[in-house]
Amino acid sequence: MSKLNLKKSKELFRKAKRLMPGGVNSPVRAFRAVGGIPLFIQSAKGSKIYDVDGNEYIDYVLSWGPMILGHSHPAVIRALRKACERGTSYGAPTPLEVELAGMIRKAYPSMQVVRMVNSGTEATMSAIRAARGFTGRDRVMKFEGCYHGHADGLLVKAGSGAATFGVPDSPGVPRGYARNTITLPFNDLKAFRDACEKFGDNTACVIIEPVVGNSGCILPRPGFLEGIRKLTSEHGIVLIFDEVMTGFRVSYGGAQKAFGIKPDMTCLGKVIGGGLPVGAYGGRKEIMRMIAPDGPVYQAGTLSGNPLAMTAGIETLKILSRRETYRKLTAKSAALEDALKDAAGRAGVKTKFYRAGTMFCTYFTDKEVCNFTDAANTDTETFAKFFRKMLERGINLAPSAFEAGFMSLAHTQADINRTARAAYQSFKEIK
Ligand SMILES: *Cc1c(COP(=O)(O)O)cnc(C)c1O
Repeated sequence: MSKLNLKKSKELFRKAKRLMPGGVNSPVRAFRAVGGIPLFIQSAKGSKIYDVDGNEYIDYVLSWGPMILGHSHPAVIRALRKACERGTSYGAPTPLEVELAGMIRKAYPSMQVVRMVNSGTEATMSAIRAARGFTGRDRVMKFEGCYHGHADGLLVKAGSGAATFGVPDSPGVPRGYARNTITLPFNDLKAFRDACEKFGDNTACVIIEPVVGNSGCILPRPGFLEGIRKLTSEHGIVLIFDEVMTGFRVSYGGAQKAFGIKPDMTCLGKVIGGGLPVGAYGGRKEIMRMIAPDGPVYQAGTLSGNPLAMTAGIETLKILSRRETYRKLTAKSAALEDALKDAAGRAGVKTKFYRAGTMFCTYFTDKEVCNFTDAANTDTETFAKFFRKMLERGINLAPSAFEAGFMSLAHTQADINRTARAAYQSFKEIK
């Protein structure tokens, strides 16, 4: 297997490092966890992505989830072209926002009222503010290994021992903010129950990724989400499902539909922007009525509800809402799951594979992965080797052992077969 020619990417990376922190605009893109240099991308179409040196890759990153139809879907691009000609931003209400909000509410009936924002980070940050305003309480509970964007109060890790006050997970986050956040182990209902007993009555909200996509792909144990729903109701805590990743990925109606749980609030992002910057938060009427201008909780955005972003979202959801779409997406995802498990098995490499709808992760371990500690104990060095071998064979996986992979409607059986062959060879070489 010949090494990739990355001449132009190398040159660009050298320049980029002088201009931007780590040469990138989001840390994981720098490939620090897997070594080598990041690919600079020229274009993308369907299941493929092309770097500036002309290399082609089958893409399972899909812009970290949004491109569920595949890259440059003709219907989305056509609608965007037309939208561009009508102007790119007005800072005033449009019919498009009403249409997308309606589609979201139809798919997520728990989101009775919806506010559009520009990113997942904005959505979670604003949902928490709403929950605090609604309850008059300050404390937030979250779970280890879940990522909810980079807002100060969420960049917090567990203090020593479960159910203690959090400590900042990044310089620049004031201790005071972190002290209002409690970080608990995922899938541990007992720890959650204990935390509720201790802090429940002054906790504003619990925020959770119902399937953890930001430590790979960790599924909730039966009863875990149900238990959280029950205990939050008992303590008057607002339950926020952060479905920025799982929304339209675990199912059309997200994880809440798949697991039959009704959260008080939901955050969306990624897929609902169809590749443009969008986030949304929403939930029970009485909570959302707290948001300005209906209520006193302030939240605003110059570009919120941007017509191009709304257009890409609407076109994406239109295609997703056709019944056959999820049948196809699920069949493709299941075929990839079978192919990757089979390749690992034949090569004699111990892996655990998890999938929820169209998101998945292969961990290099022989133990089940149920929480962040389990994920952190998997063999990340072997993953890094596997990642590099796959990239050389034209398969673009996320450059970290703690990231989910994604399937799109554009991936073909031929793509899956090619991925399986590359995976078999790569598994054999890293043994
Ligand atoms: C990606 C992600 C976010 C943050 O979204 P951005 O658009 O990157 O700000 C928040 N929560 C979850 C679960 C995510 O996967």
